[in-house]
Amino acid sequence: MRSHLRAWAPRSLALLSTAVFAATPPSASVRMSLSGPFERLAALHAPMERRTVIVGHPIRVAVGLKVGQPAVRVTARQPFEAKVGVVVIKALSGEIWTARRVAGAPARTEFVVALRSFRPSERSSALSLAGQWRQRGYQAGVVATGIRMGIVPRLSRESATGKARVVLLHDNRCLLAHAGRFKNEAAAADCVQALISAGQSPWIQERIAAPQGGIVALIGPDGRERSRGEHITFSSRGPLRVLDMPGDDTRPRRFQNGREYQGAIHARFDRTGQLAVVNEIELEAYLRGVIPAEIPTSDPDAAIRALAVAARSETLSKMSRGHAGQPFDLCADSHCQAYSGLAQQCRATNMGVDATRGEVVARAGGLVEAVYCDTCGGRTESIENVWSTDANPSLVATEDRPGRGPFLSLPPTEDLVTRWLHSNPPAFCRDGATGQNPMYRWTVEMSGPTLDAAVNAAYNVGRVRALEPLERGLSGRIKLLRVVGEKGQVLIQKEGPIRKALGNLRSALFVVEARPGPDGTSRSWRFHGAGWGHGVGLCQTGARAAARAGFGYREILAHYFRGTTVARAYL
Ligand SMILES: [Zn+2]
Ligand SMILES: [Zn+2]
Repeated sequence: MRSHLRAWAPRSLALLSTAVFAATPPSASVRMSLSGPFERLAALHAPMERRTVIVGHPIRVAVGLKVGQPAVRVTARQPFEAKVGVVVIKALSGEIWTARRVAGAPARTEFVVALRSFRPSERSSALSLAGQWRQRGYQAGVVATGIRMGIVPRLSRESATGKARVVLLHDNRCLLAHAGRFKNEAAAADCVQALISAGQSPWIQERIAAPQGGIVALIGPDGRERSRGEHITFSSRGPLRVLDMPGDDTRPRRFQNGREYQGAIHARFDRTGQLAVVNEIELEAYLRGVIPAEIPTSDPDAAIRALAVAARSETLSKMSRGHAGQPFDLCADSHCQAYSGLAQQCRATNMGVDATRGEVVARAGGLVEAVYCDTCGGRTESIENVWSTDANPSLVATEDRPGRGPFLSLPPTEDLVTRWLHSNPPAFCRDGATGQNPMYRWTVEMSGPTLDAAVNAAYNVGRVRALEPLERGLSGRIKLLRVVGEKGQVLIQKEGPIRKALGNLRSALFVVEARPGPDGTSRSWRFHGAGWGHGVGLCQTGARAAARAGFGYREILAHYFRGTTVARAYL
């Protein structure tokens, strides 16, 4: 890791800038697309040629605080207002106003079994692949996904008039050649099984075929309805308090009267046709609420800054994708990034965010999707082994200790993985604050019936007889698992589905032993594993240890995100 120091000594940060795609775009289109989060999310459903959005200063992000609600209650310590369509209604400080669902319809979703993704310019190749699968009897075709997202990197008069320089931040537009579009997931899963057996690596992409909608009513503090519309927005000069937020395990009392958030609070329809509570907030203010929810506020400055830069990059990446048909970019728990509004903010983490304002992880002038997880277990994993996505030279398997580059060219054998998991080798993430990090090496015992129930919740294979890892990634994480049951067998691909099928294991980096049960016939299972989370990118516990050992935040980021530098996306 020290070796990165020399490669890497920028005095001042370059502005992320290689891909200026519209230096003088038609002003009308810029004005239209200096978009807020909801316009941006709508672009995800537009035809391919309209999938370009430009976000202006300040960048605003939409965070889903809660979904599935019949009503949302909001108050504030200062006057606030509620907007329903064009109607604006003033509220006094301390009043509790309610957005109540009157009627709502869920989104219609479909499950696309994707075969391969193509660039927008490769339409003919995509169509030709789909044609081949149609000849084999599949209902194959091509669908468009993703958006191209640019930003106006500095606040200026030009950005208001639509003449600003625009920097391309992300272009994940692609055409998916698929083997079929299905109304339900089980049918898509059957198609996936058939394709895996035919040697393919398909994945399921869920899409919104028709968006959700409904009517929501605004109820005053006296219980009378004041207005109704398709959605309601609460705003104020100061923070808004959302009532009835779920308690926090460690501090349940503190949040029983709700949580405070900067920015606007929206009541909008979620994909099930119930209400979602969405916090629309400036990106930098959002990050102040993420870092203390993700890591201990006592972490060293370098670890806090490294996470702030990674989280900013990750947020900007997620802004170009949306959250599976929901009316927000990211959810507020660890699925995307934990976020607790103003509740846990403190000086140290706010300073870490402010000191890195606008900084992102970059490679060749482009944004890197700087993912992170709690504990890698000693080795991080290459991204394509974990998710259905292309390989990324910055997200490659790495040993989580100093001075090691990418370490293996071939996945380890079962024997090597077994020995490695039963040992306790040195790594940044091995040591926690007080002794060994319990997530570094772990053992989970599972009874036969417990495992059977977990597996059969998604795969109807009957009592499980064997779990056979068929392919592993470079860190040892299982990529392909065969589950043999009394009624049949199933192949499970990628770490997320594997962990879920086995009762939400901490990671897919494990070996498993079958053990005879007490009655001699039923079995139990013992998993020896390492790490917590997907294992790609930055290891949070490792970054903490590296910071304690004296590494700076840029060194830490350069260690976990290979070949990258820190650049400024905006000022
Ligand atoms: Zn999420
Ligand atoms: Zn680690």
